[in-house]
Amino acid sequence: MTTVSDAEKIILSQAKDYGSELIPFENALGRVLAEALTADRDLPPCNRVTMDGIAISHAAFESGIKTFRIIGTMPAGVQPIEITNPNECVEIMTGAALPDTTDTIIRYEDIEIKNGIATLLTDKITKGQSIHYKGKDKKQGDVVAPANEYITPAHISMAASVGKSMLLVKKLPKVVIISTGDELVDVTERPTPYQVRRSNSYAVKAALQQHGLHADTLHIPDEPNETRTQIEKCLTQYDVIILSGGISMGKFDYVPQALEELKVEKLFHKVEQRPGKPFWFGAHASGVLVFAFPGNPVSTFMCLHRYFLPWLKKSLISPSPLGEGRGEALYAILNEDITFSAPLQYFAQVKLKRCKHGHLHATPIEGHGSGDFANLLNTDAFIELPLEQSVFKKDEVYPIWPFKNIF
Ligand code: AMP
Ligand code: MG
Repeated sequence: MTTVSDAEKIILSQAKDYGSELIPFENALGRVLAEALTADRDLPPCNRVTMDGIAISHAAFESGIKTFRIIGTMPAGVQPIEITNPNECVEIMTGAALPDTTDTIIRYEDIEIKNGIATLLTDKITKGQSIHYKGKDKKQGDVVAPANEYITPAHISMAASVGKSMLLVKKLPKVVIISTGDELVDVTERPTPYQVRRSNSYAVKAALQQHGLHADTLHIPDEPNETRTQIEKCLTQYDVIILSGGISMGKFDYVPQALEELKVEKLFHKVEQRPGKPFWFGAHASGVLVFAFPGNPVSTFMCLHRYFLPWLKKSLISPSPLGEGRGEALYAILNEDITFSAPLQYFAQVKLKRCKHGHLHATPIEGHGSGDFANLLNTDAFIELPLEQSVFKKDEVYPIWPFKNIF
């Protein structure tokens, strides 16, 4: 059997670059930038006024002038109006370009305006106040966002500001999620008491959707020829095949045999872990990767978050500034003792809570094994407990693999 850490290493060593593509910036949220974003001009592009008020020459104020004749009013976005006399000023709004003949802004709160004359109500005036100077944030050509980062709303805002209507992003692998099992019926069907509705493929599809990846789904029956034929077709059409079910010791588990017959090289089968022990992983000579997860919904869910998503992240962002696999994991403090003595690495389901000091605390909620998918709704993450120990004490800190948004 393979250890969790070896399984992780093997999977991460199969990270692949799927190239890049240009897409409209508005659709790029959650994708990974494949090019650096640069400023197409200085930011800000002019000396930008940051308060509503008047623009004056500081030298005029220094010479003792306290009243200024308003020669015009400037909204943002217009060509500046210039003063020709020190006792003149321009009424000016936030975001407007500062006239070259002025150098200081006095906000409305510090002036009184009567009959077109502004009178200063304060003498605390600093030259250059309330001005955001041209190029202060970024110079034309400066990198505003490096490549190899997830695109966030701040990136979308910057792309809009610098006029990048199309962004070069990392291509996502083409993924198919295959469910297996004759006991499974479609969501719209009424199952007999001996059947269950398919849920794994929808769970995986939804988790991938959160990463901007839209996968296809397929269901195959527990029949060896059909299993082989369908997987064979997928090997020609996809970059990654995620399977659920059919990989254990059961009489109707035909997946490993079909994969072997299709010459998908087995890189490991069975991991020293609970849940998810029967996990099978392999690669075809064509480059297609096969993640075959056990069918129990909690096992599929755990393997997806512990192995597939870190693999996806490494394939898209390499090298990752946060580390890889377990290196990028978040950590939480156990709130209660856990005892687990089987010689397997235990991934306990936990409810997370952030305390007032900002630390994450994990309360175990055990559930009833890997078939108890209802427990996934009571919990937020798997906590990864080391194989070498069987008692895990309150206040000890371990890595977590969240499957819900914890922020
Ligand atoms: P298997 O790994 O095929 O032996 O399946 C293990 C358990 O997971 C069985 O109880 C299956 O009914 C269940 N299972 C397998 N695939 C799914 C699925 N797509 N949705 C819900 N349950 C599943
Ligand atoms: Mg099955």
